[in-house]
Parts: sequence; structure tokens; C-alpha cells
Amino acid sequence: SKDSGKNKFSIFDSEMNRYQLRRMSLEKDLRKALAQSEFMVVYQPKWDSLMNVTVGLEALLRWRHPEHGIISPAEFIPIAEETGLIVPITYWMLHEVCSQNLLWHKEGVASVAVSINMSARMFETEDLYEVVVEALTRSGLDPQYLELEITESIAMNNMEETVAQLSKLRRLGVRVSLDDFGTGFSSLGNLDEIPVNTLKIDQVFIKKSKMHSKKAIISNIIAIASNLNMDVVAEGVETPEQIELLQSLGCRVMQGYYYGRPMPVHELGQWFTENSA
Ligand code: C2E
Ligand code: CA
Ligand code: CA
Ligand code: CA
Repeated sequence: SKDSGKNKFSIFDSEMNRYQLRRMSLEKDLRKALAQSEFMVVYQPKWDSLMNVTVGLEALLRWRHPEHGIISPAEFIPIAEETGLIVPITYWMLHEVCSQNLLWHKEGVASVAVSINMSARMFETEDLYEVVVEALTRSGLDPQYLELEITESIAMNNMEETVAQLSKLRRLGVRVSLDDFGTGFSSLGNLDEIPVNTLKIDQVFIKKSKMHSKKAIISNIIAIASNLNMDVVAEGVETPEQIELLQSLGCRVMQGYYYGRPMPVHELGQWFTENSA
């Protein structure tokens, strides 16, 4: 009837409202989150499954919201990107991660590269190079222990500018990896022109690696990496079967819940005592 139609509309309407309200209130809170020290970095190991050692860490952002608790980056990163807040947040992240990593080196806890995720915004609006150099200089960290993770779409969309920035950073010694590789439908024809050290195979392929077609894709990514002299890391590794398959295809470095979840700094010391060379 006409009435129920109207009801459906108002239910939809109120759901939209709830979503919009949360979005607006998160946006408002996000503007204060840095100043109120609500961000925290967690670190997930990249594990060499042949040598059985940690060969790197990925830094991942967590937001400890005063009322809502931990909010997933999947929810707040898009807001941070739309509002431009991702730029100061990434600056903070760079300083935080570089100083923390230097501390691990000095304490003899570990000497591995730590990677940070870079949004497209960082290449569009800011001089990424200057900011990275500042974070390295201020902390005193050797550039080879810093890695930037970028997605295919960032690399391909504004290729000339991105390649120029990345090349300067690579000359310093900073490492670069292509994140979520295989999901961006990028043209492989340009891959050799992007200065990257590592391809990270997206977790969707690992999740479905029992399927013949996904296995074929994984195998081809590994071959491309090998032919272009790049390293390869498999993401989202959760089971011994996945590890066995990846090893049989020639991939040895893996990142996933099977080896280690993202951990706060105070847990990393213990992790390294138990999982270092
Ligand atoms: P990503 O860069 O692809 O990071 C990997 C995500 O997969 C992380 O989720 C990690 O916790 C999760 N993961 C790792 N191993 C496994 C596994 O075995 N199984 C499953 N199911 N998941 C696994 P997280 O921390 O929630 O981050 C989600 C996304 O948010 C990241 O995806 C990245 O795109 C973005 N992000 C996180 N931190 C930052 C940051 O500091 N800056 C920017 N720009 N983006 C960030
Ligand atoms: Ca990443
Ligand atoms: Ca990824
Ligand atoms: Ca992702």
C-alpha cells in the first residue's frame, strides 16, 4: 500500500541519517585525534618462511576513539583521505615509525625495514620527498630501514610525478613496495618503469589459493617479480596449506595472522626475542 511504501522510505531515510551522523561525528573527532594523541601504531611481521626470521614490519594505524573504542582504518582512512587529514596523520606516522625503528636498532632488538602505507594524497598535494627526508633526519634512521607501500592505482594514475618522487626517494635508499598487487588491473606494460623493490600479492589471491585460477595468478605474479628483479611478499597468510603452496611456487616471505598479528610496540620486544636470527 501507499503507507508501507512511505514507511520503507523513512526507514531507509533514518538509516542514511545514522550513517551520515556517524560519518560527520567521526570527521569532527578525527580533526582532534592527532592533538589528543588518540592514534597508535601496530606492527605486523613479514616473515621469511625458509630462514624462519622476521625480515620486515608493516606499520598499521589504529585510532583509539574516546567513546567508540578502536576504530578500524577501513572506516577512518577514507574519511581522512577525503578531508585531507591523511596528510598530517601520515607525517605523524613517519616520525613515529622512524623514531621507533631507530630505537629498536639502538637497543639491539631488531634491524629490519618498517613500511608505511601511502595514500594518493601524499603524492598529489605535498612534497613527499621533503617530509620523508625530514623524518629520517630528525630520527637519524638509515633510509634503507624505511619502506613506503603504495598501491598500483597511485603508481599508475599520476605516473610521471609519482615515478619522479619515488626515484628521488630510492636514490636516498628508501625502499618502495607495490601493495595489493594484482587487484588494480594496472597495465603490466608500465610496471618496469616504476621504481619498486617489492610486489605484495593481495590477500584475495591467498584466501582463494585453492582455486586453480588464483594459483595461476599467484604463480604469474611471482614470475613477474622474479623477472623484474623484485622481491615478493604474500599477504594475508593464515594456514599451513597456503604456506606450503606459496613455498612450492617460489615465494618465501609472508605476512599474515598465521605468523603474527599486528602488535603494539610493547609486544614487539618479546616477539623479536622469540623470532630473530
Ligand atoms: P593493507 O595495507 O592492505 O594492510 C593489510 C591489512 O590486512 C591490515 O588491516 C592487516 O591487519 C590485515 N591482515 C594482515 N594479515 C591478515 C590475515 O592473515 N588475515 C586477514 N583477514 N587480514 C590480515 P588493517 O590494519 O585493518 O588495515 C586496513 C587497511 O587500512 C590497510 O590495508 C591500509 O590500506 C589502510 N591503512 C592502515 N594503516 C594505514 C596508514 O597508516 N596509512 C594509510 N594511508 N592507510 C592505512
Ligand atoms: Ca599495506
Ligand atoms: Ca595490502
Ligand atoms: Ca588493502
